[in-house]
Amino acid sequence: MRPETPAPVRLEDYRPPAYGITTVHLDIRLAPQATRVRARLAVSPAEGTEAGTPLVLDGDELKLVALALDGRVLAEDAIRVSPDRLEILSPPAGPFTLEMETELDPDANTRLMGLYRSNGTYCTQCEAEGFRRITYFLDRPDCLAVYTTRIEARKGDAPVLLGNGNPVEHGDVPGTDRHYAIWHDPHPKPSYLFAMVAGDLARVSDSFTTSEGRDVALNIYVEHGNEGACDWAMDSLKRSMRWDEEAFGRAYDLDVFNIVAVSDFNMGAMENKGLNIFNDKYVLAEPDTATDQDYAGIETVIAHEYFHNWTGNRITCRDWFQLCLKEGLTVFRDQEFSADQRSRAVKRIADVRLLKSHQFPEDAGPLAHPVRPRLYHEINNFYTATVYEKGSEVVRMLKCLLGDVAFRTGMDLYFDRHDGEATTIEAFLACFQEASGVDLAQFALWYEQAGTPMVRAESHYAKETGRFTLTLRQQVPPTPKQADKKPMHIPVRVALIGRDGRELRPASVTGAEMTGDVIHLRETSQTVTFTGLAERPVPSILRGFSAPVSLNSDLADEDLLFLAANDSDPFNRWAALQTVVMNALIAASACVARQEPVTLPDALVAAIEANTVDGTLEHAFRALCLQLPGEADIAREIGHDVDPEAIRIARAAVRRTIADRMARAIAAEYAGLASTDAFSPEAAAAGRRSLRNVLLDYIGHGESGSDGALVRAHFEQADNMTDRLAALNVLVHAALPGHEDALASFAARHKANPLAMDKWFMVQATAAQDETLDKVRALTRHPAFSAGNPNRVRALIGAFATGNQSQFNRADGAGFDYVAGFARELDRRNPQAAARLLSAFRSWRALEPERRKHAEAALRHLASDDGLSADMRDIVDRCLQ
Ligand SMILES: [Zn+2]
Repeated sequence: MRPETPAPVRLEDYRPPAYGITTVHLDIRLAPQATRVRARLAVSPAEGTEAGTPLVLDGDELKLVALALDGRVLAEDAIRVSPDRLEILSPPAGPFTLEMETELDPDANTRLMGLYRSNGTYCTQCEAEGFRRITYFLDRPDCLAVYTTRIEARKGDAPVLLGNGNPVEHGDVPGTDRHYAIWHDPHPKPSYLFAMVAGDLARVSDSFTTSEGRDVALNIYVEHGNEGACDWAMDSLKRSMRWDEEAFGRAYDLDVFNIVAVSDFNMGAMENKGLNIFNDKYVLAEPDTATDQDYAGIETVIAHEYFHNWTGNRITCRDWFQLCLKEGLTVFRDQEFSADQRSRAVKRIADVRLLKSHQFPEDAGPLAHPVRPRLYHEINNFYTATVYEKGSEVVRMLKCLLGDVAFRTGMDLYFDRHDGEATTIEAFLACFQEASGVDLAQFALWYEQAGTPMVRAESHYAKETGRFTLTLRQQVPPTPKQADKKPMHIPVRVALIGRDGRELRPASVTGAEMTGDVIHLRETSQTVTFTGLAERPVPSILRGFSAPVSLNSDLADEDLLFLAANDSDPFNRWAALQTVVMNALIAASACVARQEPVTLPDALVAAIEANTVDGTLEHAFRALCLQLPGEADIAREIGHDVDPEAIRIARAAVRRTIADRMARAIAAEYAGLASTDAFSPEAAAAGRRSLRNVLLDYIGHGESGSDGALVRAHFEQADNMTDRLAALNVLVHAALPGHEDALASFAARHKANPLAMDKWFMVQATAAQDETLDKVRALTRHPAFSAGNPNRVRALIGAFATGNQSQFNRADGAGFDYVAGFARELDRRNPQAAARLLSAFRSWRALEPERRKHAEAALRHLASDDGLSADMRDIVDRCLQ
């Protein structure tokens, strides 16, 4: 058993291990309920370790069967052993060999950590601390070893046997129905990157020649019948491999790269050396079952895991506090890759939307933590938007502050200097400081201080002197355990736009250091003066979202709408329009609360229309301009005493107003976007679909589409999942005539495909209707639902909790009770998945008092339960702190 409240782990307590393990030989004899793992470890004391220092190895629910040191069985009083710990009390002073045998039950492993079976396939997940569920080990990222793995199984059960590294040998076990394979990974790695897979899987193969001339065999393993759905993943992999050579000078370093898709998986995917294991959602794609978003997601996740081969595997983290060293950096790399493959502007907007909808609320609530936390109770709960998405923004800011050339020089230095090491954020930053000569001491606060900095911008123009001043003030709000904050080093990219839409060049700039168009905001308040301006410019501030801050300016709607029409920075053009739309939505929510009618300024509708019909802009960009912020986004901007029902009503009223006032333009654009071309997942075709489907959403929610005829036709004529699902969403969410039939026909068509059925669950779980909670309850009894599968849980309960603001946050508290109760049940089987589901409560303190009371009661009820897992306990306690 785990202790009820484990002691916290603190960054300042880090000590290097007293022993090193240089080689690991594993012999894994698979059986569904009694797998035997023999481990032979070459152990040696670290320099400075006193003779006789006990060797303490981690375990988790392990059963030790045999143990020997240098070939001799140890006396009982020479060791101390429990399921979660093995101590060798007085090991030899020099190097020695430790041999152990443990017995595992993969079938009973519903936590999906360590070795388990998913649909008959044996697979592993070891990050962060799963390897200790396979054998006793120094299960920490700074223990790097060379692994050789022998895997043995019944031939009939598992014709395919895969390990890390390169294949060495395979054959039959004489006189049995079993066979084996031996794999060797020459690159020293931490235990969290260990993996093995065994099962009856189909293989799709290709090859790639690296820039260094190495021929690499590429394989994707999937369940039989899914071979046809791997083309996009394979194509994405090859493009990633080429891109990393071109953009970062990094080539692949083994003879084989294997990807395995499994259906029961807690994470998106895992970058195990040479053997990536994927949630099948991020591998399988066919036009009939995957949306454009799925295709983009596969491209991103395949790239992300591949890029880890250098940022994570070749250079790994010293300890789990440094998680952002590999994750933030690798997210940055995958974002850059996708930007190069698609539209940079559209990708940037999508990434910022994700950041604001996931990371900003985390940073503003009880679960806020720095990009590099200093303390954790349960590391599984730190695979967060802050570590990943904000971590990526920090790397992006580095590039913005230092410029492309110094950034690349810093990266090269990092790869050169730390290859083969387990390192830290300090070591990473030192490379950039050396490469650029820029002092990064203040910048390093981005890793230390939690909370989204608030930046206020005020401007003033004096006609008589031709001076324009921009005053920038920053403030970092208090967060749990961090009341006082220091000013940050914030890159603020700025341009001054003239009346004709062109950027104005000032004669001089004083008041702040500026490199190119980047103001270095370092003080609490700084006033930047631009001279030589014959007309009042409109400032375009924080271009490209140059820092993950919450910007608030004194620009009037008139100025923002001018930028929405004229800004040459596409991100800020979109952001300016969004700001006006958001202000209108917040005002509308206040109107609803006061029971007044919702109104919308004509100039705003005109601006939205102008961007929607502008044929010089990309389709995907136009779609983003037309899309309203979500209910959760509006709640985040309001920030306190949030009434989700008022927001829902207000947003629906604004959407209806736009739909009706722009009805003619919407209908014309929609008609013009029909296409008879064959399906292509490429960005241009996906962009066209996205605009057409946003238009459809307005039509379905407006007067003109209220009979449902056009939306039903869209549904019936769809030749791909993107269009079919978009229409289904509108039919169900607007409760249009025929929505029940559409749901039934969708289920009949896709009942054999679990990933497609996830979408069917999700559409129903996110309907903002009073009866949705009852429907969700009933759907948990649907034959296609399984609480044991993380994707199904996310699609139904997760979608309800995070994607249905008004119903999860119901005024009667029933939404909270249901999700908390479900998480409690799930916790018995899969604590990690349960804790993640529960983090939907992260914004409860921002709710209006009645709802807050209900949310708190649900959390307190959980807190009073003595049987919670450490994962759940951690989230509940932090939410209530
Ligand atoms: Zn990652």
